[in-house]
Amino acid sequence: MAVETSDCLVFQRIRRAKEIHDEHGTHMLGVPAIAMALDRYRELMGQTQLAMVRFGVVAGCTRCAQEEQGSCCFEGIEDGYNTSLLLLNQLMGCDIPEEKEVPGSCLFVGHEGCKLKGRFYFCLHYLCPRLQESLGGERAKVLLQILGKELQAGWEAEMAVLRWLRAHGISVHVQQP
Ligand code: SF4
Repeated sequence: MAVETSDCLVFQRIRRAKEIHDEHGTHMLGVPAIAMALDRYRELMGQTQLAMVRFGVVAGCTRCAQEEQGSCCFEGIEDGYNTSLLLLNQLMGCDIPEEKEVPGSCLFVGHEGCKLKGRFYFCLHYLCPRLQESLGGERAKVLLQILGKELQAGWEAEMAVLRWLRAHGISVHVQQP
């Protein structure tokens, strides 16, 4: 099992995102470009969720996690999250965990599923072989197109946040330990 220390990069990023959010979050949410980008992102997330329910992905993933200890939310994947996406999650009301709930898995997964709202490319785009088989080629293609729109909206929201931070001289950079 990987050793978890509060010095790991992801924990530094979470702390930095929380610092910025505590200090500037309310103000940022009042910036029209950020508010509009977040609204659009939420709308696209909703469309993804509807498609996942309709195509049986939610049921399939839940079954896999509960009955077969699914492994796609594996330990270490949380390192792929940068400070700006973590900050975006905070702006959307996520309480980002700093302690692992499920041993041997991603820091962000709980017994009820992923605790994040905004997720990065791999988390959204990965369709395991079993899902691909149950979806079939055509539905997988449709789902990936819907996911692609969510990713695009997330990227635009992240850019709106980064532009605001840059304009205010706030760095999201964290030092690698
Ligand atoms: S979907 Fe959420 S819990 Fe699963 S790997 Fe991605 S961030 Fe972690």
